[in-house]
Amino acid sequence: RERAREILETVEERDDTRLGVEAMDLLDAYGIETPQGDIVDDPADALEVAEEIEGNVVMKIVSPDILHKSDIGGVKVGVSDEDVYDAYEDLITRARNYQPDANILGVQVQEMVDLDDGVETIVGMNRDPQFGPLMMFGLGGIFVEILEDTTFRVAPVSESEADEMTREIDAAPLLRGARGREPVDTSGITETIQRLSQLVTDFPAILELDINPLVALPDGVQAVDVRLTVD
Ligand code: ADP
Ligand code: MG
Repeated sequence: RERAREILETVEERDDTRLGVEAMDLLDAYGIETPQGDIVDDPADALEVAEEIEGNVVMKIVSPDILHKSDIGGVKVGVSDEDVYDAYEDLITRARNYQPDANILGVQVQEMVDLDDGVETIVGMNRDPQFGPLMMFGLGGIFVEILEDTTFRVAPVSESEADEMTREIDAAPLLRGARGREPVDTSGITETIQRLSQLVTDFPAILELDINPLVALPDGVQAVDVRLTVD
């Protein structure tokens, strides 16, 4: 919690209240699993991070001015070490073409998460003027807006409430193993909802927070992308 406080203070001091390099650290401070990786601001550092990670990596543009990275080709999946330099330059170029004066914080180099065995879910929080912090859970990834398969509870949520959330979305059978698929770690999802609920309860300055996707795997969960707005 102390570490989370320090991270949030850094965000506030920077006077850039959206997203930021620190979002992943914040989740980490509350025990939410994130893929191995780092955010860097030059291609040589990107390669160094990529070499530390086993196998190919994912590279993403990091900018508070680009909310939907994949919409502008700002997410590259399956990048090999040889392609890191090209991918880096291409990400910066795409961001500049999209918005010439975009504030580009760097490029995130991330371990690949195996989506074949996983389900992309979303866990989020919005402060409602009437109800306070509203926790959201649903099917995630790029289809979240189209499918609108989500459910809500007021934070802080109990373990049984979080568990209910994972059971009441339309896609619930998908989580519990449908069509011969392995069931995913629903208790990992439940735990993540609770930890996030605790984080936003501890820090009212967090106005909005989304993990999208939280990839639910047979043996755990990984917070692959996080977006946050602080007061
Ligand atoms: P954005 O939501 O801004 O477009 P994301 O980081 O969520 O950016 O990436 C978009 C999609 O790319 C994800 O929903 C997921 O399908 C895929 N993706 C992103 N990061 C990874 C990763 N580390 N491993 C596997 N797939 C990923
Ligand atoms: Mg996303």
